Amino acid sequence: MAKLIVSDLDVKDKKVLIRVDFNVPIKDGVIGDDNRIVAALPTIQYVIDHGGKAILLSHLGRIKTEEDKAKLSLRPVAERLSELLKKPVTFVPATRGKELEDAIANLKDGDVLVMENTRFEDLDGKKESKNDPELGKYWASLGDLFVNDAFGTAHRSHASNVGISSNMPQAAAGFLMEKEIKFLGDAVENPKHPFVAILGGAKVSDKIGVISNLINKADKIIVGGGMTYTFYAAKGLTVGKSLVETDKIDLAKQIMAEAGDKLVLPVDNVVATEFANDAPHKVVEGNIPDGYMALDIGPKAIADFKAVLADAKTVVWNGPMGVFEMPNYAKGTLEIGKALGDLTDATTIIGGGDSTAAAKQLGIAPKITHISTGGGASLEYLEGKELPGIAAITNK
Ligand code: AMP
Repeated sequence: MAKLIVSDLDVKDKKVLIRVDFNVPIKDGVIGDDNRIVAALPTIQYVIDHGGKAILLSHLGRIKTEEDKAKLSLRPVAERLSELLKKPVTFVPATRGKELEDAIANLKDGDVLVMENTRFEDLDGKKESKNDPELGKYWASLGDLFVNDAFGTAHRSHASNVGISSNMPQAAAGFLMEKEIKFLGDAVENPKHPFVAILGGAKVSDKIGVISNLINKADKIIVGGGMTYTFYAAKGLTVGKSLVETDKIDLAKQIMAEAGDKLVLPVDNVVATEFANDAPHKVVEGNIPDGYMALDIGPKAIADFKAVLADAKTVVWNGPMGVFEMPNYAKGTLEIGKALGDLTDATTIIGGGDSTAAAKQLGIAPKITHISTGGGASLEYLEGKELPGIAAITNK
């Protein structure tokens, strides 16, 4: 269903609360990767260019103790935002109270304010993360309009997304949220065929929901990474010391029966004696020998997967094909990334931190149609779940 978008709102002279995802990697006050701040700029810029007052809320990391606060203040983020916007940004080191309310009252049209990390409220009974009704109501009272641009937290019901939305007459999506819904939504509901999903990563249990939802929508589901070997066990192959979720073997059997030849597993693997880059390793087909663990897909599997991808028109990729952090087991992931980058006539979508990191490492990120900013949120979207943060945005 189409959602109300920030550009549908008349923001002039209005105090516009914007929930952004500024959950960036930060160490000793230094931001490691400012992608998420950059991704939020179009919405912020739109609001200030149209005469609105932008009041930004975001979480940063997890706040469990009083000591966490110093490490996880949004102040450095506000400073980086000011550089990116090339204009002053007011930072208020509070999530409620007079200082914040006065600073908001003093805003002029086109000004930008960042309030302190919303999760500072978690120290007092997890008010943000448990969507405390009083907190959502209070934050809503600080603005005239609400825009949710934080796709990365859309799968959670927090005071700063669902709480504010439910205390406003209307809630609109920001441009980043709009983009995420469009690409992931089209892939799940209206894909161009052949539609291929590539799923990897450590655990079957994390991806089972996605596989189940995509069985009837995708033309092929390629499986690689650690989750492969639970399927191997389900097929009756030996798995050696490979990662296997024994309690998921029956489920893997069911999925294989349902998916038939849609499910594409690697025919060969790189196997090693230990979980270490320099451990003795070799390529084997089929059964994983005793004393070995499979840590990457093999060359035949890479060729098979590339052949499946060759005529794809929609591809969704989540999760590495092997232990790509170790150079000797990175090839499968990197080759699949390259194959995705070479698809010029397909909509390609990447979700999840590891696949995104691989795409960046390969320099193919600019060739990918859409790299989702939400790991958990994109998976839940692909599972066909309704995300509470999105459900709370007003339908058009
Ligand atoms: P996930 O967070 O579920 O996407 O899993 C990502 C992690 O899975 C990465 O850290 C990989 O190193 C790991 N992984 C991928 N393939 C394997 C494998 N064959 N054995 C063990 N771990 C793996």
